[in-house]
Amino acid sequence: MTDAPAIDIAHLPHPAPVPGATREQAIADPGFGTVFTDHMISIDWDEGEGWHGATLGPREPITLDPAASVLHYAQEIFEGLKAYRLTDGTMALFRPDQNAARLNRSARRLAMPELPEDVFVEAVRQVVLKDSDWFPKVEGGSLYIRPFMFANEHFLGVRPAKKYKFLVILSPAGNYFKSGAPAVSVWVSEYTRAAPGGTGEAKCGGNYAASLVPTGEAFAQGHDQVVFLDAVERKWIEELGGMNLFFVFDDGTLVTPPLTGTILPGITRDSIITLAREEGLGVREERYSLDSWKEDAASGRLTETFACGTAAVVTAVGKVAGRDGNFTIGSGGPGQLTTKLRDRLVGIQRGTVEDTHGWVMRLD
Ligand SMILES: *Cc1c(COP(=O)(O)O)cnc(C)c1O
Repeated sequence: MTDAPAIDIAHLPHPAPVPGATREQAIADPGFGTVFTDHMISIDWDEGEGWHGATLGPREPITLDPAASVLHYAQEIFEGLKAYRLTDGTMALFRPDQNAARLNRSARRLAMPELPEDVFVEAVRQVVLKDSDWFPKVEGGSLYIRPFMFANEHFLGVRPAKKYKFLVILSPAGNYFKSGAPAVSVWVSEYTRAAPGGTGEAKCGGNYAASLVPTGEAFAQGHDQVVFLDAVERKWIEELGGMNLFFVFDDGTLVTPPLTGTILPGITRDSIITLAREEGLGVREERYSLDSWKEDAASGRLTETFACGTAAVVTAVGKVAGRDGNFTIGSGGPGQLTTKLRDRLVGIQRGTVEDTHGWVMRLD
């Protein structure tokens, strides 16, 4: 990015950043989503001024009026991406332009204002550089970046709000790739996640609110994730609560459910399709049913299944359970192709595999 972004971000002093020793302790084994850094980005929008008041300042509580519309009608969207550290020590983002574009597609579906893509990327860049001390030193660690936008007008009528806030916060994340990462066990839910014409392809908090009961059911029965079927026929596999799915066949081809409006268009999904095709593998974006999944796993035609998304990148699915019984995929552990595609993607993100697509944005 050489052009100046369309907005100036004012840097506010931090009166009391977390002391170094406390920070080091917090990032030694951060897990996921519980540790946060010192700073955040905040930008406001209203009808008259558009986007204004951009600041990079202390991460602190925000005050909301009890009538703030997000609290009543859930006009909220978010993104999730990571800053990685390349082998030469430089921090880098992975395809942040795609997150910026997707935020705006979500914004359009939720009747919210779009944020210029260069402002999104510049905001992320500045706060990551500001809090680079928070980058976890554990092998395979990253800084998880959570940009989000919500309606902040005090008004109880039902219409799109006239005021919004865009924030970016950062959370140091541990390593998902400890060697021998096990395959996950998934539960096929009777609940559905998204209906045709609904908000399934928008990254909005409301989709997640609706997924919590089915996810709780999966956990209660000892599974790691939920699989959602389509809402019309209750037959076609859509995705997990927060990850897209790929099916691998014994002829070396892959199938992933098509983006027909009820599935979240994952950036990891898109990257895997590209990398698999480069490996000479056929990838078909087509519907695949739960019945076929079960039959093909039993016959051996299906050899692997994996889920993908920013948080865990690529995770093998080993076991599937649902009301109609359980089945195992392949050996029940991560398969060859799953491992190969994961290593390739992670290699690009970490700078050990050549980035031939211009996906990696160095932050120096
Ligand atoms: C964010 C998300 C994904 C994964 O998207 P990535 O861009 O790959 O991180 C998949 N499904 C749902 C429902 C999501 O919210």
